[in-house]
Amino acid sequence: MTLIADLVSLHQVDSQARALRSRLEGAQRHKAIQERQGAQLQTRMDEVRAQIRHHQSTAANHEAESGSVDSRIESLRQQLNASTNPRQYSAILAEMKTLQSKRDEIDELALAQMQKAEELQTKLTEIEQQAAERAKVVDVAKAEFETCRSEVAERLASLEQERAAAAARVPRSELDAFTRAADLYEGEAMAELVTIDLRRREYVCGACNMEVPAEKYASLASNPNVAVTCTSCQRILFLPQVAATHS
Ligand SMILES: [Zn+2]
Repeated sequence: MTLIADLVSLHQVDSQARALRSRLEGAQRHKAIQERQGAQLQTRMDEVRAQIRHHQSTAANHEAESGSVDSRIESLRQQLNASTNPRQYSAILAEMKTLQSKRDEIDELALAQMQKAEELQTKLTEIEQQAAERAKVVDVAKAEFETCRSEVAERLASLEQERAAAAARVPRSELDAFTRAADLYEGEAMAELVTIDLRRREYVCGACNMEVPAEKYASLASNPNVAVTCTSCQRILFLPQVAATHS
């Protein structure tokens, strides 16, 4: 086989292997994104749960404080009932009123904390639902990735072997040029040299459509063992009949 024919063979297996790899990487990326979003929801749930616990414990502290103020009010009420001295009576009554309004304030605070906890509980329920939905999506993405991997793995392994064999037939410098172009154009390392007008010697690169000098056509047509690249896009050029005999 000529160098160009070897390059065309290499291109065929290389582009198939690249397509399979990118399909596998796509499935893996999708899985990773879903897992990351799942983990973010988990973190959010942990945060909201911690906030709820904080508000509940603050509310419990307020309630305990309210209870102790209540006990104090109750003991004042007994003193009040037992009091016979009008001045002492009104002093106790005034203190009771002060304590009652203090207790009401504390009760308000406790209530506000409980309301916050309840609002957060509603929010938590929403996030939990989102997380449950996301968990299903993650499971699907995982299964898809596994399916893709098992489908692709065997085919990819044999393509890699074919690719290595095809690459071994191509000299180092041409192989480097091929790999550079393949990396640049997602596997499309080769381009057909298209004849626009044979008589006027007009040729273009089939990939980038830029003009290719007639000398490059002449070189390729006369010696298929010298690789010719498109001046514009650097893809390796081939003549259509080479592809036709090897596809
Ligand atoms: Zn080109």
